[in-house]
Amino acid sequence: MTSVHLLHAGYANDRVGSSVVLVRDGDARIVVDPGMVAGRGLIMDPLHELGVPPESVTHVFLSHHHPDHTVNIALFPNAEVVDFHARYRDDLWLDHVGDGYRLSPRSELWLTPGHTEEDASLVVEADDGVHVMTHLWWRSDGTPAIDPIASDQAAIEAGRIRVLAAADIVIPGHGGPFRVRSGTIEPLSDARVNPVG
Ligand SMILES: [Zn+2]
Ligand SMILES: [Zn+2]
Repeated sequence: MTSVHLLHAGYANDRVGSSVVLVRDGDARIVVDPGMVAGRGLIMDPLHELGVPPESVTHVFLSHHHPDHTVNIALFPNAEVVDFHARYRDDLWLDHVGDGYRLSPRSELWLTPGHTEEDASLVVEADDGVHVMTHLWWRSDGTPAIDPIASDQAAIEAGRIRVLAAADIVIPGHGGPFRVRSGTIEPLSDARVNPVG
């Protein structure tokens, strides 16, 4: 069984919250972007409801290094942290192959620079379709079209084309999911893909 659960739909307005996701793939439990939230319960409570103790989380995947996506990494004491270029566990700094690196049998890291030079996306072949967790978009309506703090907008455009060709569902950095139909973005209500509660 491979499933993707939105734990917290992010936002970016006068306040900033990260989209936080759990991926279950065989024995792997991957938390994506445990960053800024109004309270840690907004990450831990939905995990509890899914029957996932924090000690059982095997990986934390980081879309990039900004604090709004990273400040709660330490909630998961046994997790291997994976970013665009390496794996980090206790005091070990370990290589991975980069683009195409598989964290688990059906989840794969893609290098998707542009927001920062250190951006990566997590592509999961879940039982209900291909889900991509990424900061190539911020919100469920696909905005902002031009990333106001991008280091390389052209690289973002290339990454978006690659993701839209593969994804059924995209969970952007600061919003609920959207569906991809014929290469275009179709926002979903959070309730439709959030099985929590
Ligand atoms: Zn950022
Ligand atoms: Zn962000």
